[in-house]
Amino acid sequence: MGHYLSNIKANPHLNVFLEVYEAEALARAAEVDRKIAAGTQGRLAGMVVGIKDVISHRDHHLQAGSRILEGFVAQFDATAVQRLLAEDAIIIGRQNCDEFAMGSSNENSAYGPVRNAADPTRVPGGSSGGSAVAVQADLCLASLGSDTGGSVRQPASFCGVVGLKPTYSRISRWGLIAYASSFDTIGIISRSVADAALLLEVIAGPDEFDSTVSQRPVPPYSRQLQLDQKPRIAYITETVESTGLHEEVRESVLRNISRLKETGHQVEAVEFPLLAYVLPTYYILITAEASSNLARYDGVRYGYRHPGHDSLEGMYKKTRSEAFGEEVQRRILLGTFVLSADYYDAYYTKAQQVRRLIKERTDELFADYDFLILPTAPTTAFKLGENTDDPLKMYLADIYSVQANVAGIPAISIPAGTDRNGLPIGLQIMAKRFDEARMLAFAQYLMALNA
Ligand code: GLN
Repeated sequence: MGHYLSNIKANPHLNVFLEVYEAEALARAAEVDRKIAAGTQGRLAGMVVGIKDVISHRDHHLQAGSRILEGFVAQFDATAVQRLLAEDAIIIGRQNCDEFAMGSSNENSAYGPVRNAADPTRVPGGSSGGSAVAVQADLCLASLGSDTGGSVRQPASFCGVVGLKPTYSRISRWGLIAYASSFDTIGIISRSVADAALLLEVIAGPDEFDSTVSQRPVPPYSRQLQLDQKPRIAYITETVESTGLHEEVRESVLRNISRLKETGHQVEAVEFPLLAYVLPTYYILITAEASSNLARYDGVRYGYRHPGHDSLEGMYKKTRSEAFGEEVQRRILLGTFVLSADYYDAYYTKAQQVRRLIKERTDELFADYDFLILPTAPTTAFKLGENTDDPLKMYLADIYSVQANVAGIPAISIPAGTDRNGLPIGLQIMAKRFDEARMLAFAQYLMALNA
């Protein structure tokens, strides 16, 4: 515990934690020590975990990286948090992130950007940037983040750590601030696949507070990390041949493909022409869902309220203009547009149809293959400020990660070397729905091949 607390104090410039629960964490550590001495400890005894500022922890501030939730205190524990605590994990603090989890670089936080510990002039990725750097810089053992379009995997890849996004509905969303509800998942960032497996095993599964959560029993992932047979693997031609892909990221993927072949695996190229439509589909649907989910922040019920005495409508407008950042406002406007009566069919309905196609075609690939491997992101960590004046360029950071969210399948990013500047490169594995156990086993195998 002292180790993490002193690392946190030594690294304030990384801007990872919005709040550190020092006294509370120390008290809990002492309590867990007593349980260990008595032999009554839970499965996560002493695991020090940080949580992204979109996950509710009772009696603690919760702000989604936004001014609009200024002063807001959570009234209940997210199911995932409650399950961590029940198994004696220690929650060390609340981690910085892009406002409402919208972003790919952590530059959209109202509390300043997070910096990449490999090079503090560079971004950590987003939106769970604080959660990734926390693990990268050894400020905690693991983090809970959220992944709506890549927000756990892309920062994990920029920071050289493991980022797991499970199947949609595997982990209860109770207590996760809603961004785009049909895409949102809680995800795990850790150093090892084994830690991710253990945490998933604890937090996943049925929950009476989330009616969309899967009722399937949760396998003991942490005890199933051995592959039972040689998996069949594919890679998507359009990803490795893309001109937007950095050369060294491409080399890393190709190197992994040849290592797998050398170790006797069948690895085949497949085509996925719909890839070009995945990102636009994602951005139409998530802005629509976000515009609806964020309607509740009106300055009346909680959080920030414009101080002047205006008309009710004026108060709404000023509150939302003053306290939502630029990117969040952009998405509310875009989402309102795609849902507006005149454009609903052209955008929203069309995107729903394309989503279905993408999902069906993705599922078809898993009839022939166990896993798809692809880059997590097209580049390594970019410089702070490099993409901030061009939202489209920023959105391209998600080009390979959003497919898993659009299709609802599990995916994981593992470290796969560094580029010539010493910046981490991530490799992504996608699997069919609810195949986390085998995906984790394969991830562990592949990580060892990359070590
Ligand atoms: N960067 C993507 C976005 O801004 C992903 C965000 C996320 O997964 N929360 O929408």
